[in-house]
Order: sequence, then C-alpha cells, then structure tokens
Amino acid sequence: MIAGIDRELEIQDLKARAATLEVRLRRLTDRIDRIRAEKPSDLKACVDPDRCAGCGICAQVCPTGAVAVSDIAEVDPFRCAGCGRCAAHCPRGAIHLRPPASFTQAKAGVNNLN
Ligand code: SF4
Ligand code: SF4
Repeated sequence: MIAGIDRELEIQDLKARAATLEVRLRRLTDRIDRIRAEKPSDLKACVDPDRCAGCGICAQVCPTGAVAVSDIAEVDPFRCAGCGRCAAHCPRGAIHLRPPASFTQAKAGVNNLN
C-alpha cells in the first residue's frame, strides 16, 4: 500500500516538474520569436573617454564580445550589434549608441587628439 502511495506521489511530482518545464519552454520560445522579429540595430556603441572609469562592466554584459577594456573601454564597431546593454549598465553614463558615421567621426576626433 505504501509503495502505491509513493508511486502516486512520484507521478504527481513528475507532472509538476513537467508543467514547470513547459512554462519555461514556452517563455524561451516566445523570447526566440521576439528576437527574430526585432529589426537589427543600425547603431553602434561609442565610449566617451572622459567619462569612462575602465571598470569593465560593459565588457562583461556585451553579448558579442565587442568591448575590450584596458585603461578605458574600446568598442569594435564591426562586432557591436547595437543592443545597448553596455550603455544601460555603464555606471558612468560613458557609452551612447550612435549611427556608425558619428562613431567614425568621433573616433577620428579622438585620434586627432592623440
Ligand atoms: S561600464 Fe562605463 S565606465 Fe565601466 S568600462 Fe564600460 S564605459 Fe567605462
Ligand atoms: S551595444 Fe551591445 S553589442 Fe554593442 S558593444 Fe554594447 S553591449 Fe556590445
């Protein structure tokens, strides 16, 4: 009799776990659909060297590995997908998303200062 109760409890437990997995699967599938529907961003992350403290948070949150940090952060515009995560997490407000032309001009300006 006890074995029968244990069996029923195990079945209920497995059903509950299956239901949880179904919910998670549905959420992940919805997320995939949302990402597929998003228009790729034309913007690129641009670092303000006067504000950057070199903390590296932006590099940690970047999903494409576009940010390298030595003294300050530098963004590889060819790897940057323009998602904005770095800008959202930067504690100094040192990153902004800009059209690629502005990025090129800003970079040229910085290079001219060097
Ligand atoms: S998160 Fe902001 S302050 Fe920190 S390294 Fe990146 S750009 Fe610089
Ligand atoms: S905008 Fe997104 S992809 Fe580009 S550097 Fe920032 S976190 Fe990385």
